Amino acid sequence: MKDNLKPSRRQFLKIGAAALAMIPILAVSGKVMASTNAAMRSAMKYQDKPNGAKKCETCMQFTPGKAPKDLGGCKIFPGDTEISPNGYCVAWVAKSK
Ligand code: SF4
Repeated sequence: MKDNLKPSRRQFLKIGAAALAMIPILAVSGKVMASTNAAMRSAMKYQDKPNGAKKCETCMQFTPGKAPKDLGGCKIFPGDTEISPNGYCVAWVAKSK
């Protein structure tokens, strides 16, 4: 009975193969985690380019990414992690200096 609880070499190989198969899935799902909030983008007329000098980078609602040029978030666009620092929407408000 106790021998039945010992994992066999075959079981180890199956688990290892399954773990290796999960790597690309996790890599892809990590990318899928980044997302846009299409409803808010549409409602607020979001665009990926600035409106003159007005852009997300200079808006008080913008949450920057890791680097200044990385995509970030917006406090009024819940769940959206792909806001461009050079984007713009009608809710733009100048960041206080
Ligand atoms: S409110 Fe609009 S302009 Fe300001 S950061 Fe969010 S998306 Fe960009």
